[in-house]
Amino acid sequence: MISGHCLCGAVRYQIDGEAVLMMYCHCEECRRATGSSLNTSIFVRREDFRVISGEEVVGHHESSPGNRRHFCTKCGSPLFKHFPQPPGLITVRAGTLDGDPGLRPTAHIWVSEKAPWTEINDGLPQHQRGPS
Ligand SMILES: [Zn+2]
Ligand SMILES: [Zn+2]
Repeated sequence: MISGHCLCGAVRYQIDGEAVLMMYCHCEECRRATGSSLNTSIFVRREDFRVISGEEVVGHHESSPGNRRHFCTKCGSPLFKHFPQPPGLITVRAGTLDGDPGLRPTAHIWVSEKAPWTEINDGLPQHQRGPS
């Protein structure tokens, strides 16, 4: 079981089952939504994920059609995202996890939109756009 929470602790979530994948996303939307040079997320099955406390303070912003970015409205922590494709998965912001989810990033995506100051030198595959 994987768990996590926002900065202020109002929102807590739980993931039953294994995370599917971990990736670095450099897209402009993720950069703005997280306020960071890149976004590190894990992909999990939608049915495995649930908010266990603070659901009433979870807000969301639809950054592009079908992409709903959920965050804590008390402290602003970005938490998870619903997206149309591929169906059945959501992403969870890795920085809000408790402990070690047991997997490591496998790729950089949307490198075409990476911040000019970001240098990638970890040897992982780099994709100009999203996962194919
Ligand atoms: Zn919070
Ligand atoms: Zn992104």
